[in-house]
Amino acid sequence: MSTSDRDTIFALSSGRPPAAIAVIRISGPRAGVALAQMIGRVPQPRRATFARVRDPATGELVDEGLALWFPAPNSETGEDIAELQVHGGRAVIAAVLAALGKLEGLRHAEAGEFTRRAFENGRLDLTAVEGLADLVAADTQAQRRQAVEHLRGLLGERAESWRQRLIEALALAEASIDFSDEEDVPKQAMAQALERIGPLAEEIAQAAGAGRGERLREGLRVAIAGPPNAGKSTLFNRLARREAAIVSPFPGTTRDVLELHLDLAGYPVTVLDTAGIRETVDPIEREGVRRASEQAGGADLVLWVVDASVLGGEGMHEIKQARAAAPDAAFWIVVNKIDLIAEAERPKIESQFARELTVHLLSGLTTLGVDEMVNAVARYAEGFFTAEPALVARERQRGHLRETVLALRAAQSAARDGREEIMAEHLRLATRALGKLLGRVDVEDVLDVIFRDFCIGK
Ligand code: GDP
Repeated sequence: MSTSDRDTIFALSSGRPPAAIAVIRISGPRAGVALAQMIGRVPQPRRATFARVRDPATGELVDEGLALWFPAPNSETGEDIAELQVHGGRAVIAAVLAALGKLEGLRHAEAGEFTRRAFENGRLDLTAVEGLADLVAADTQAQRRQAVEHLRGLLGERAESWRQRLIEALALAEASIDFSDEEDVPKQAMAQALERIGPLAEEIAQAAGAGRGERLREGLRVAIAGPPNAGKSTLFNRLARREAAIVSPFPGTTRDVLELHLDLAGYPVTVLDTAGIRETVDPIEREGVRRASEQAGGADLVLWVVDASVLGGEGMHEIKQARAAAPDAAFWIVVNKIDLIAEAERPKIESQFARELTVHLLSGLTTLGVDEMVNAVARYAEGFFTAEPALVARERQRGHLRETVLALRAAQSAARDGREEIMAEHLRLATRALGKLLGRVDVEDVLDVIFRDFCIGK
């Protein structure tokens, strides 16, 4: 828990200057005083008001703009909030921030501190905080849709209602223990508790197992793999240029895996260029191959690139091996260098591969067929990410849901053995797990990790 709750914090909440407008927010018990010092009065709540912003120390006019006043508790942080909208020049912002810094009881906010206060004041549960972090970081429309639903309580509200139902079941179980001397009460209460736990466990288990929410944050993982010289790097670079994408080297040696982040039809796709999955004696190459296998293994879709001019033989054997290394991934064959094959011969190529394989013919060099393959990947991504926003967006959330289900199952089996005390204990553990999901209990260690991702002013 932050020990500085009494501090009033301020920060630039809008983007990097220079910009047309800058938004500076102040939150805390002295926000109203600060606002009065800066603009001479506190405006009506929740109404944009014209303001002359002055440095209280010198009385000098800094800028003209708008002021907004959101008194506690109905503000984003749950505290008094003042907001100044001024011109977004560097010197204007610097002057306003410097003036605020000189006021008593005010200090600059740390990264994520506004959101942290909102969380601590019960304005947002932890799943909503995570949704907010994802919303600010969202690159694609699909990511945005999922994040905004989480911010609005898609998982949080569901989890809260599960928690309420669990508490009712727990109360019944405890009643059964408390009144164990009496005739019918305990049996009835126990039966009712069990009746509630069954469907609850099912619902939560289903939620914990469903969806690909985490993947939507990271992107569909597409690995470009295949034997050396098949044209993997050429194809990768072609995709990078075509999509004006960000290429970042995967940490490690020069023969490492490169990552390319694409937005295909609103869906995030991460393309991995591997060094070729193949047994080799060269130690550097071998390290590259090890990483490549790892990457292909973790991929959702493997694009296995082969050279059209050297098809057959060993190549077919390698395909089998590679498919075995990535059993969970979709596996497409990309026959590259199709420009080296006479047009009349091209239709025959596909028939050389097993019928169940998806085969794309293209040339990374001339770009023939590249668009068609990229469109196919986009369609694959669309099918991969269900249209509905996923209930679970993070591994942390899934973990707590699983924990809840395990505790509920343990409670059920304890109840069947007639061990009421044990059952009640498991129900308490289940309630606690949901509490952790929502950030109500035992979360100090995860808070720093979650809020670290936020920028200052958020
Ligand atoms: P990698 O080892 O799989 O990454 O293969 P590279 O991308 O380095 O390509 C190996 C060689 O094949 C290079 O000389 C490329 O210029 C050439 N190459 C790549 N793609 C094509 C293509 O579509 N057509 C032709 N004719 N040559 C290609």
